[in-house]
Amino acid sequence: MEDYKEIREQLEQQHKALHRRVSAIRADLRQADAPLDADWSEQAQELENDEVLANIEDVSMSNLEQIEAALSRMDHGHYGECIECGEKISLRRLEALPFVTMCIVCARESERASKSN
Ligand SMILES: [Zn+2]
Repeated sequence: MEDYKEIREQLEQQHKALHRRVSAIRADLRQADAPLDADWSEQAQELENDEVLANIEDVSMSNLEQIEAALSRMDHGHYGECIECGEKISLRRLEALPFVTMCIVCARESERASKSN
């Protein structure tokens, strides 16, 4: 069986960093519930920032889920297997994108399918 020790370390570090980021964003968004500034332009700016932050939070949360799924696949010995065809995903691909679940062939296929929708 492949040894994905380095990838696991990478995933765990990313997981920690994302966790910190999401907590920081949440703290910041909570503060935003405070009464808005009287200055309208500043208000608009604040709302815009909130939207950006909420977006980053969304992306970070889905990344967190992907990382957790990848770590759990590692725990079960399925890491690096394509969920579509069961083939091994190349190590180079895993190193570049540690939480991919599909081999390059299936990934391209599903991308094409989603684009034609
Ligand atoms: Zn595949």
